[in-house]
Amino acid sequence: MPIDLRSDTVTLPSDEMRAAARDAPVGDDVYGGDPTVNELESRAADAVATEDALYVPSGTMGNQIAARVHTDRGQEILVERESHVYRWELGGLAQLSSLQVRTFEAGERAVPTPEQVRDGYVEESLHRPGTGLVSLENTHNARGGVAVPPEDIDAAAEAAHELGVPVHLDGARVFNACVALDVEPARMVREVDSVMFCLSKGLGAPVGSVLAGSEEFVAEARRVRKLLGGGMRQAGIVAAPGLLALDNVERLAEDHENARRLAAGVNDIEGLSAPTPDTNIVQVSTDETGPTADEFVAACEERGVLGGAHGEYLTRFCTNLDVSRADVEEAVDGIREAANATNA
Ligand SMILES: *Cc1c(COP(=O)(O)O)cnc(C)c1O
Repeated sequence: MPIDLRSDTVTLPSDEMRAAARDAPVGDDVYGGDPTVNELESRAADAVATEDALYVPSGTMGNQIAARVHTDRGQEILVERESHVYRWELGGLAQLSSLQVRTFEAGERAVPTPEQVRDGYVEESLHRPGTGLVSLENTHNARGGVAVPPEDIDAAAEAAHELGVPVHLDGARVFNACVALDVEPARMVREVDSVMFCLSKGLGAPVGSVLAGSEEFVAEARRVRKLLGGGMRQAGIVAAPGLLALDNVERLAEDHENARRLAAGVNDIEGLSAPTPDTNIVQVSTDETGPTADEFVAACEERGVLGGAHGEYLTRFCTNLDVSRADVEEAVDGIREAANATNA
């Protein structure tokens, strides 16, 4: 079996999760009658201390529902240049919510400064559409799983709120940020108007994400989920493993420790470099002189280590629930051999 470090989504449900799925009490969730989904939504809301929460099939749908609920057709959404909602969701902001996207560049900080929020804000007028939403991301995926401290989230959110603009947090991996920074999730999302988090990333659930916010927001989100075809019936079957996934938050620290070990191992290899990760994403550079990421990924795969090309010379390895410390040590050996083979 190769060591699969392509993503933290590749984990397989545990026996416990499979048993929970089999035994889950279920009903028709579109009628509000699935007790397992109801329990998951209530526990998920508690986890981030929001009034309510909605179970959605994917993080993408959660983000797109949030954009749709918070905005009016034709408005602008302010997002980071490398954000998932902008780069990896098929232009859904345009397709599903008729939004014009305005980007800012946050670099390592990953979220905008208050100044960047004010600069990016567009006041509605006869000629201008007006800004309807600011979307933040924590951890920031494409910037290497950067864990953004709550103070930076607060500052951006306060700047947006002063302008009358709501804030959504794409928190696909928000628990990774919370564990890395030792911050309560409720504290992390205190100033935002909605948050999406994934149960199927890092936490090990086979399916599903959560969109959380006020009662009013979630009621409207439920309608948009239906509109997008996301109303599910006996969804307790997939929600039950999600309940167990919520118990996997604290152990994310192990993934972070494994990622730091992986990065340290990689930095000892000639021709490779990797910044010390905040969380579970290791970005390995083969520089401009080494193999391209595609070549490097192929060489790693031949040696039993799976990663992903995330830039011309940038390869990503993501530690996860199914990868042990011993696996990481073995992976470093495979990566070393791949580097030696491709540098020659
Ligand atoms: C993976 C991811 C999503 C989308 O989640 P899916 O469940 O794959 O649709 C959204 N935002 C970020 C930051 C992600 O990493």
